[in-house]
Parts: sequence; C-alpha cells; structure tokens
Amino acid sequence: MLGSAAIMSTDAPTSLDRGAARLVAAAFLLLAFACAPAPQGSSPAGGSAAAAPRAAAAGSAVLFIGDGMGPAYVTVTRVARHGSAGHLHLDDLPYTAILRTHSSDGPVTDSAASATAMACGRKTVNWVLGEGPDAVYRRHDGTRLESIALEAARRGLRIGVVTTARVTHATPAAFYAVSDDRDRERDIARQAIAAPLDLLLGGGRRFFLPRPPKTERDGWLPSDGEDLEDAARARGWTVVTTLPGLRALRGGEEKILGLFDDDHLPYEARAPSMPPRAAPTLVEMIRFAIDRLRRDRTPFLLVVEGGRIDHAGHENWARTLVDETAAFDDAVGVALQRLDPATTLLLVTADHETGGLAMSGYPSEQEGIWGSYRDEQGVSHPILTFARGPGLSGAARAPYGKDDPRPSASHGPDGAHTGVDVPLYGWGHGADQVHGTLENTAVYELLRAQIEGRPAVPDPRPGS
Ligand SMILES: [Zn+2]
Repeated sequence: MLGSAAIMSTDAPTSLDRGAARLVAAAFLLLAFACAPAPQGSSPAGGSAAAAPRAAAAGSAVLFIGDGMGPAYVTVTRVARHGSAGHLHLDDLPYTAILRTHSSDGPVTDSAASATAMACGRKTVNWVLGEGPDAVYRRHDGTRLESIALEAARRGLRIGVVTTARVTHATPAAFYAVSDDRDRERDIARQAIAAPLDLLLGGGRRFFLPRPPKTERDGWLPSDGEDLEDAARARGWTVVTTLPGLRALRGGEEKILGLFDDDHLPYEARAPSMPPRAAPTLVEMIRFAIDRLRRDRTPFLLVVEGGRIDHAGHENWARTLVDETAAFDDAVGVALQRLDPATTLLLVTADHETGGLAMSGYPSEQEGIWGSYRDEQGVSHPILTFARGPGLSGAARAPYGKDDPRPSASHGPDGAHTGVDVPLYGWGHGADQVHGTLENTAVYELLRAQIEGRPAVPDPRPGS
C-alpha cells in the first residue's frame, strides 16, 4: 500500500535526541554488519553482485534525481559521449522500472508535485510542496506530509541534500519544506535552516542574504532583512560559499550549508564561452557529501538533484543538456565507487521529461547526431528536435551559441515538461524491488523500506 504520513509535529528533533538515535542506529547497523554476509566487493555495478542480501537494520540510501531527464536524454547522452554501443554508468545499473509521473491534478507534472510524490509518497497538485492534494496552489495549505528525509532524521540517519540548482528550488525543497507555492523561496530558505539536515549543498544564496526586494516577491517581504546565514550559524550550521571553503572544512562540523552561487550553479558545459568555474561540480559535491555522511558507519540518506538538466531542456539547448546529463552520470559513477551494495540502496530516476526531446532520422555512426539527415526526397531534417520550446531563438544566451539549440515543433519562450514515463534504476540493497511499471510514489516506499530495514513492496497498481 502506498503510504504517506501526515505530520503530527513539525518540531525538529533536538541534537541530543538525534545523537542518541544515531548511536542506536549505528549499533543496529554494526550488528547487521556482524550478521550479514561480507560485502560482495565494491565493483561499481553489475549483475548479481549488486543484488545483495538484506541486512536486518536500517540501511543507507541515495536517491539521484535527474530533473527533466527523460528516456531520450539518457539515449542522446550515451550516443554523444560513448557512441551508440557505449555505456553510461546508468546503463550498468542492474534493476530498472518504468515510472509514471502524473500529478494528482493532471497528466503532466511540475517538479514540486513530482518531488513531493517521491519525497512523501503522495501525489499532489502541481506547484505545491510537501502537502496533500487538498492544497490549492497559492490559496491555502493542504495536509502536511512528512518527507522521507525528515522521517529518516527522526530515526537517527544522517541526511544530505545536494543540487546543482538553488537549494530552495522545488526538487530539493520537497525533502525538507512545505508550501502551497513552490516559488516562496525565501520562506523555503527559512525552513531549510530549521530542518534536521546534516548537509545542504547547491546554489540560491540570494534567498539567505539580507537583501529584501522592494516589493513582495518569492514570499519575501521588503521588511524582512534577516540574515539567514547568520541565523543558520546560530542553529549550528557551518556556512561555506566557495569550493576552497568546502575543501578547507576539517571534519568536525555538525551541519554544513554550502551556497556556491546566488542563483543556480553554473552549467557544467565544456563550451569555450563558459567562464572559469568557481562553484564545485556535481561530482565534487557528491564526493564530499558521501565521504561526510558515511563516516563512523551511521546510516544516511542522500538526495541528489541534477537540476540544470531540466533548465537546458527548457531552453532546447541540446549540447548543454548532454553535458549536464553526462555530469549527472559521472556523479552516479562516483557514488557507485564509494557505496557498499550490501548496505546501501541507490536509486536513480527523473521527476519528468522536459521539452519532448527526440532523436530521429538514420545518421551513420560516423555522421553522429549533431547534424541533419536527408530523406528520400532530399529534404534535410535535424536529428535532434524538441516538441516544445524556444527552438533556435535562444542561441545568443546558449553556452555553445548557435551550435546549442535545436528546433522545436511548437515554438514558445519556454519548453514545457512532458507527461511521458521516465526510467527508474536501482542498485544495491533492496534494489531487486525495482521492476515493472510504478507510480513515482514507489520511490518513497523503496526509500522508506530501506531506512526502516524491512522489505519493500512497491504497490504495483497504477493510479494510486
Ligand atoms: Zn522544469
């Protein structure tokens, strides 16, 4: 049965409570290590080695969400980077399912509703975070839901949230915040520093700085000049804003808030036009996050968003989209090298597809996918196209200039999300439950079973 939990109390556990809970969790985990067969090697992925037997106690889980990363994004990135017969790290994950992404009020979801489904196990209405489908966007709150991250924190797990977008953006926010309007990012920033997270890395620093707008915007009143970085420090966070600052951390910090850009982090495009990168890459953040969260064998939950895949898709920038998806895949590869499949569940999925990317025509392997295909009538067709978005008109702002955009069939300023199903990949402890066609709420069920140390039985019935 697909469960969701209405929050009884939003009080964060005290650090003493959490410390005690962690000791208990660590003791259970050590017991599990003692009882379970030895880990079956640390090979990144592959076949039966990745389907480890279950331990009896809470395990760790990592959820990667490629925002907008529909099936064609994976295929195009594979072909562009490794050739048609090549392999992404995603291709080597041993378990797969198809995930249905619709929101409670329509066939095409926004990121808030889909992230809420995965974080809280309940479908909700578009543009709403962490609340049930009785919410009315920007009008009134719905039933408050408890996210898997907050539930895991209550159980003593360490919690990390990492994104290449603003940390207050819809996908990461669904794991620690509630709002009937995803755009109230100032309010979401305030919820972030009050949340029982151990690690929060990404962009969006402007919502934490004392720079209120002249008129109300993003849930931010002109009278609100509070410095939320100072407020975060007062709550035990160590705040870092640069890559050297992140690298200089010594290891004793309780809570780490990394805000590496005022807005989203820069694209990881390899284009010559891109300025030297000051912010950490997704790979650098994942290395840091896993090494931090897994110390002393306390179980942890890490949520990772490749947030800019979606943005490149909205813009119809195919080359940037491939770079972002490849960077996301590289980060999955880093996680596979560092995680133990005997104790850790790794899930990789997307919240929806963006723009309706298609790869069509019959180019040879040598010709590749970046050009056009000439049909029998001699008419040339671009191989990569989008269903919706600005098409070729966005070249001036694109990292690769005119080489970046691809045409759209339905022209408009912004590529919309599409309602197609997306892939769900699984690896490690409990990943054998990843099969069939599932609702996106099954992600919550899988994570919940893992952190509770019990078998997962994702509800196979669609439409719930
Ligand atoms: Zn989007």
